[in-house]
Amino acid sequence: MTKSSLALLFWICLAVPVHAADAADVTRSRVEYVMGTMLEVRVAAADSTTAGVALDTAFAVVHRLDSTLSNYRSDSEISRMAASAPAPVPVSDDTFEFVRRSLELAELSGGAFDPTVGSLVAMWGFYSGDYRIPAEADLERARASVGYRRVRLDERAQTVALDSGVIFDPGGAGKGFALERAQARLEAMGVRSFYFDFGGQVYRQGSDTVGIAVRHPRADTVSVTEVYFASGSVATSGDYERYFEMDGVRYAHVIDPRTGRPVVNRYAVSVFAPDPWMADVLSTALYVLGSDAGATLLEHFPGVGAMYLSHDGAGWYAGADSTWRALESR
Ligand code: FAD
Repeated sequence: MTKSSLALLFWICLAVPVHAADAADVTRSRVEYVMGTMLEVRVAAADSTTAGVALDTAFAVVHRLDSTLSNYRSDSEISRMAASAPAPVPVSDDTFEFVRRSLELAELSGGAFDPTVGSLVAMWGFYSGDYRIPAEADLERARASVGYRRVRLDERAQTVALDSGVIFDPGGAGKGFALERAQARLEAMGVRSFYFDFGGQVYRQGSDTVGIAVRHPRADTVSVTEVYFASGSVATSGDYERYFEMDGVRYAHVIDPRTGRPVVNRYAVSVFAPDPWMADVLSTALYVLGSDAGATLLEHFPGVGAMYLSHDGAGWYAGADSTWRALESR
């Protein structure tokens, strides 16, 4: 990873419009609240009707996955898994695939990414907003129900069973998974030029290369860099979305399952990947792992690049790998 001090680029962080694939295309866009954040979708299609149907289709996919994957909804499949524990729960294809992939990445990351982290996320108050620093005994109790091996998949019956007390948290990868599923439906419709901005995660596909700005962790209208690509996704995990400060320490919503505590003094990690699932899940994993162990994990994922934003007391600097650096030049 090469380090460079940041000559901050003060420009307004623009939502980059999708460019019509060719002059004949019509572009349409819409913004909706879903999965606890804002989703902007822009599509380019041959005519206005197709563009409108494409928007309806993309949002219908994401809303459907919100209803099955959300641990903020008691009637979702994910919530039913926790409520029925330790009994197995029959789930839809998408939920089964989402859980299977999440466990795969948990294994590969040595448990740094771990979707069973829910009881710790709850204990620190990140679901309720009632933030607190738990007592050691409470942390130990919550950690006893964390561990991706406490989830059992039955491929034949298509069921998921959680150990008692386990809370499955989709927050680290759910948005990326939803964007991947929405893209598949757009592709099936013949729509190949689109732009998603899902709570800061960008996923675009187009015939032209455009610059996607990465925001500064302490100033949301300031960008620290731009990456240029025609198709792919950039996701960022940072300490500025959901956090609280106590005694000068900032506790944010990404938890290290191995310690039971929020990762501290790590401002932001951005990941570029060809697909949104990988960008989303790896930004969370790398945020927990840090740059050295993160670089080892990325060896499994060719074409994926990462940038870490840090502050050394004197100023901000960005550490990035060669894949990310190559994206910064037009
Ligand atoms: P990321 O870094 O991508 O993920 C951080 C999130 O991952 C944390 O918020 C936590 O949920 C989880 N996490 C923390 N540590 C780890 C770890 N070590 N391994 C794996 N996961 C970890 N929020 C609401 O306020 N209201 C809602 O109704 C709501 N509904 C949602 C429905 C779905 C299906 C999903 C996926 C999320 C929902 N959220 C909701 C959560 C909200 O979208 C999260 O803030 C968001 O998913 C976090 O994404 P991020 O990119 O900001 O952070």
